[in-house]
Amino acid sequence: MIAHSQFIAGRPANGEGEPEAVFNPATGEQIASLASASKAQVEAAVAAAQQAFTVWSKMTPADRSRRMLKIADRIEELADDFAALEMLNCGKPIGTARAVDVGNTLDVFRFYAGAARTVPGVPAGEYKAGHTSMVRRDPLGICVGIAPWNYPLMMASWKIAPVIAAGNTVVLKPSEHTPLSALKLAEVCAEFLPEGVVNVVTGNGSGVGAQLVAHRQVRMVSLTGDVATGRKILEAVAPTIKRTHFELGGKAPVIVLADADIAAAVEAIAEGGFYNAGQDCTAACRVYVHASLYDRLVADLKLATEAIPMGDPAAAGTQLGPLITARQRDRVDGFVARAAADTPAEVVTGGYAPEGEGFFYAPTLIAGARHTDEIVQKEVFGPVVSITRFEEDNQALDWANDSEYGLASSVWTRDVGKAARFAAELQYGVTWINTHSVNATEMPHGGVKSSGYGSDLSIYSLEHYMTTRHVMIKH
Ligand code: NAD
Repeated sequence: MIAHSQFIAGRPANGEGEPEAVFNPATGEQIASLASASKAQVEAAVAAAQQAFTVWSKMTPADRSRRMLKIADRIEELADDFAALEMLNCGKPIGTARAVDVGNTLDVFRFYAGAARTVPGVPAGEYKAGHTSMVRRDPLGICVGIAPWNYPLMMASWKIAPVIAAGNTVVLKPSEHTPLSALKLAEVCAEFLPEGVVNVVTGNGSGVGAQLVAHRQVRMVSLTGDVATGRKILEAVAPTIKRTHFELGGKAPVIVLADADIAAAVEAIAEGGFYNAGQDCTAACRVYVHASLYDRLVADLKLATEAIPMGDPAAAGTQLGPLITARQRDRVDGFVARAAADTPAEVVTGGYAPEGEGFFYAPTLIAGARHTDEIVQKEVFGPVVSITRFEEDNQALDWANDSEYGLASSVWTRDVGKAARFAAELQYGVTWINTHSVNATEMPHGGVKSSGYGSDLSIYSLEHYMTTRHVMIKH
């Protein structure tokens, strides 16, 4: 377990603010009470990041890269400890915590260690006669990362690795529900980085978070969180005109066309709809299926959903853990109850919180939902998949695009022409063809519309954390 609640200027510290209770969602037990950062500690973290910037920004990309590779190696050595913390604090099945959450985190550090050394740009040259021009890609300064609770370690890596690779320094605020793995990651980073390059302060959004994002020395705020939080942060940064980078949730359409490989689609929906208990902004949660396949898809997906092993995250074979809090479980249950009561939709399976300890919710399928129903329009962020029947392809395309969100989408077809047309016309940051929820560190992850802007992962993320400058020299 982690004993301290802050990591500032290269050292662990106890918070001096209000206590925040931390729970094990698989049992419902409180596992820690961590004192939040006080206002003075937030100031100290920003001051440490400012001081560290003068050193870190002047290091060569090769120096930064070497240190980041060592961080990745240490994360790998401590993989079991990190996975155990993610399981304890989020209820993630231990196997996926190890393979996905920890595996992705160390890959992200390795990728940006390399990317830092190959930043692309326009070549220097004489673009005006008698003048030589060059482009500089410089770091911004202090970047604040604000992270959610669904992938605490992975999100911390997405908000640290590209940022420091670019030569910036960081103050990260993890979710008040899931601070443990980020605090441990800060310890690992401090082994290899100058003090103050990576700082972690904990506490809630309206106190610690709001103080950080409004801080006049902070140059950029990167949030993964709710749309409403994004709006608040935009208002808070207006007086100081900071750069922002937002990943704000989604409601991914899964379009199953008449010629789809239905077995493959069912398998992917059962996996991608309920992975991480559906607490995933790219979850395959909004299925539109052609009328000719509707009955079979509902029947097969019901069987596949009921076969998902839910329970003790420490047990081998468990695929579905609990939701993060009792509040989140009740929120999910509210969505399901309203769908069942107020619409023609029916709960085909699930729709209840099982007896016993922890914040579990049974994987739930809602068939016959209309496109306009709340359950199809709003992000549930829980193990709930809706199924809507369509008659012709353009109807599915229109419905898929008729959403405030624009993060992830998938299309299931054997027709390459249809696949290309849907990919071109879907207004989403990612479109998968015949697969769902597969990320690659080299490829951008980000949304359009209310899902936000700016990419995580890939070289594009690195570029968001740099400024582009022109230097011109008269001959
Ligand atoms: P949230 O927006 O409530 O909280 C996210 C973070 O923002 C937390 O650290 C919180 O303390 C902080 N915060 C809240 N108010 C703040 C304020 N005024 N100023 C500064 N910080 C503030 O979201 P959550 O409940 O932790 O996470 C779930 C949400 O995140 C879902 O809506 C989900 O879709 C979204 N999400 C999106 C992605 C993506 O990649 N697009 C990934 C994961 C989660």
